[in-house]
Amino acid sequence: MADPLIHLAALRKSYNVGAPNEAEILHGIDLQVAPGEFVALMGPSGSGKSTLLNIVGLLERLTTGSYRLQGREVAGLDDAALTLLRRRTLGFVFQFHHLLPAFTALENVTLPALMADGRVSARQREEAMALLDAVGLAAAAGKKPAELSGGMQQRVAIARALVMQPALVLADEPTGNLDTHSADEVFTHLRRIHAERGTAFVIVTHDPRLAARCDRLVELVDGLIARDAPVKP
Ligand code: ADP
Repeated sequence: MADPLIHLAALRKSYNVGAPNEAEILHGIDLQVAPGEFVALMGPSGSGKSTLLNIVGLLERLTTGSYRLQGREVAGLDDAALTLLRRRTLGFVFQFHHLLPAFTALENVTLPALMADGRVSARQREEAMALLDAVGLAAAAGKKPAELSGGMQQRVAIARALVMQPALVLADEPTGNLDTHSADEVFTHLRRIHAERGTAFVIVTHDPRLAARCDRLVELVDGLIARDAPVKP
């Protein structure tokens, strides 16, 4: 394996530490993901998938253990450093697209650039257009979210997740809200972007058909990794 992009070691996560309702959710996770991997994360509801994704996404802090992102230990970083690292390194796709209704598709895709830099450069606009093209939506760049189907909205959200050229995209049930056909289509675009750009993906899904289209399947049960294996073609 190349130098890991993410390296979790003996990672534990508890909520409500020190309170009577303290609960440990992740019980010692060891996981490495290499640059450019395409990984499915599965497991029963409540097994800790979102918690793990939020920690990897620098949205939640681990309780004990280690998390190195591109070789850098993140456990001791302050919030400002985490925010910078998140913007530079990570992209997010959620089950609900969270597009801004008053903005066009193109404006939604350039939003992360606007938030990071306070402006959108010509290069970033070009990148946003290239990404809309990559998800089959070049012609919809000027449309508002309400004018697009659910699958198209989610494809805009994928373009938005990639506009800052992250090394890793984290997707929490990106097709969970879509019918089978739209889900397949969204997934096809994820795979194409992966092939063209070499971006790493970690995708939480409940759908075994979609997991079968990933390269590696990590299964979480009760806060522990129960299985971690390549997906057979
Ligand atoms: P999954 O994504 O696999 O369904 P989650 O990571 O959402 O699992 O949740 C795992 C467990 O952690 C659940 O029992 C959930 O109730 C608990 N949990 C999640 N977030 C919090 C929180 N902020 N405070 C307390 N408990 C939480």
